[in-house]
Amino acid sequence: MESDILIIGSGPAGYTASIYAARAGRKTALIIGPQQGGQLMITSFIENYPGFADPISGPELMECMRKQAENVAVEMVQDTISAVDFSMSPLKCIGESGTEYCGRAVIIATGASAKWLGIPGESAYRGRGVSSCATCDGFFFKNKNVAVIGGGNTAVEEATYLTNFARSVTLIHRRDSLRAEKLMQRRFLDNPKINVLWNTTVTEIIGDGSRVTELLLRNVLDNSVSQVPIDGVFVAIGHRPATSIFAEKVAMDENGYIITQNGSQQTSVPGVFAAGDVCDPVYRQAATSVGQGCMAAMEVDRFLSINV
Ligand code: NDP
Repeated sequence: MESDILIIGSGPAGYTASIYAARAGRKTALIIGPQQGGQLMITSFIENYPGFADPISGPELMECMRKQAENVAVEMVQDTISAVDFSMSPLKCIGESGTEYCGRAVIIATGASAKWLGIPGESAYRGRGVSSCATCDGFFFKNKNVAVIGGGNTAVEEATYLTNFARSVTLIHRRDSLRAEKLMQRRFLDNPKINVLWNTTVTEIIGDGSRVTELLLRNVLDNSVSQVPIDGVFVAIGHRPATSIFAEKVAMDENGYIITQNGSQQTSVPGVFAAGDVCDPVYRQAATSVGQGCMAAMEVDRFLSINV
């Protein structure tokens, strides 16, 4: 199958890129991937995506984006890319179906997913007190007691952000020192709403059937266990970008995020661009992914005009 532009992934970045590319008059195919709509399909309510005065559910928002892409003649392909060959033009992507997709340019928008602890109660209470995004869900915890798990930049940033809403924020970290940047740590440790439980792991998230109510903790030094009442828990132990098929094909950082050139969505390979969480360990928002999808499509259009 041949197109001007192949877009891999159907989250906000992929759909936005496809809308801009198709409206620029380019033959555009979007390979949907394993989860149509991406991470937002498991997000209950979104209040920070502009244009919707009332909260909108993640699946509803993604359905709007999908329909908009279809309306501008993006070709939607139900397949998952399992291998790529970017060594020559046209660029090739091979689907699990066995189909070979060829494009003069490719936009990688395969996203990332939050790492989870895999402990009892975590998936049962996801969206009902368990979250992986303070920016998305912090607002729902006004005057509540919340916990953040992790010791990196994300955990420290999320815990600090949550103090804008919560009555108290308890950071639970498995070691006795933080991985987060020193300046961020100082601001965090000085915050009177924040309390840190060092050398502690969470072994179970307990609820009453509808909401999270308690955490079961274990001190890793003396193995003592304790139970703390809590209204919400934010798991901030890192994200995993969906980039395994691009290993050694495009440049990535040590965590597997695709590296894009400063101020652009261009990767290390001419004609290959990236947008959204797959190349963004910092912001990870639907709104920023949409912006990057737009940038990638405009840059691709310029690339195709120059490389006829
Ligand atoms: P990190 O990998 O940096 O940190 C993950 C944290 O989670 C670590 O403290 C780790 O503990 C802990 N952890 C991992 N697995 C478990 C587990 N199973 N149980 C308990 N704890 C666990 O991820 P981040 O998301 O914080 O950051 C990712 C990247 O994004 C980094 O490069 C970071 O600098 C960057 N970033 C930058 C920001 C900024 O500049 N404003 C904001 C957010 C992220 P341990 O320390 O013991 O390994």
